[in-house]
Amino acid sequence: MTKHLFLTVLLMLFGITRSYSQACDYALVIHGGAGNLSATEDDPVRAPLLYAAMDSALWIGEGILSKGGKAEQAVLAVVTYLENNPLFNAGKGATVTADGVFELDAAIMLGKDLIAGAVAGVTTVKNPILAAYAVARQSPHVMLSGKGAEYFAAEQGLETVDNSYFATPRTLEWIEQLKKESAKNGTVGCVALDQSGNLASGTSTGGMLRKRWGRIGDAPIIGAGTYADNRSCAVSCTGHGEYFIRHAVAFNLCARYKYLNETIQQAAHHIIHHELNAEAGNGGLIALDKNGRIAMPFNSTGMIRASLYKEKNAPESIRQTGIGKTLKSLPGNLFRE
Ligand code: ASP
Repeated sequence: MTKHLFLTVLLMLFGITRSYSQACDYALVIHGGAGNLSATEDDPVRAPLLYAAMDSALWIGEGILSKGGKAEQAVLAVVTYLENNPLFNAGKGATVTADGVFELDAAIMLGKDLIAGAVAGVTTVKNPILAAYAVARQSPHVMLSGKGAEYFAAEQGLETVDNSYFATPRTLEWIEQLKKESAKNGTVGCVALDQSGNLASGTSTGGMLRKRWGRIGDAPIIGAGTYADNRSCAVSCTGHGEYFIRHAVAFNLCARYKYLNETIQQAAHHIIHHELNAEAGNGGLIALDKNGRIAMPFNSTGMIRASLYKEKNAPESIRQTGIGKTLKSLPGNLFRE
């Protein structure tokens, strides 16, 4: 009886501590890739399409988080939506290798128990983020690559497609030309904090334009392009993957936050503007800490991005989106079903 009472008091105390430590109900941040986007920001055709896609992605994520859904479900739903959208360098619309093939990478990580899954170099899995999640949940491994990853995804009942499914008129043109660096689509990523205090992060990409056959970037590498830990932050990166791998950017940010007691903004700023800039490592990241604080720095001319933050007891979430330096506010959280 006394033991039971003691346990109940402990659980109550834990509950109270937790609700004080999380300042918001839930939060979500999305990126659609970083790079030379100065022309895109004012492009009368492309910019509205990108803003609309970011807005839809926020609604999809908020629809899950506002009803008490899990961070991992929000990340999966948002990244799947972006993979199916040909505007982005992930799933349909992915960039091409030097051989004119689509080779896709994706990863997901759950902050609660550090469960992680990734696939690299897959050519026939329609939604690589779902394959990454299957690796996390249904296999004893963290990363599967190439043919093995494709067999595993098919075995898990995931949809497979011919490699040509990933092509769009825009990417087919690149196969012909393989040159327009400034015309590249963007990688996608999403980080979420749910109402139970769990963080999750997911990233999906076709990689760098003209990459060599078999090249793997930072996105599927846990700790480089993707990381989540409930004790610190969730991070998803975009940019020149080789630099992000060498600086273990996603884990580096969590480590600075945890061990140096930097804020998420300080830690993210340091890595993007000091460590990567020192080596011309072009790109950016999105990050959320365990309290729902947001950082979205980039050292390129732009990063397609959007965030939402629902303060406790606030009538609606604060929503923002941007392509270049300026952030626009978006209307609130009346979820459209
Ligand atoms: N980081 C990705 C890679 O290196 C590409 C990108 O984010 O644009 O594969």
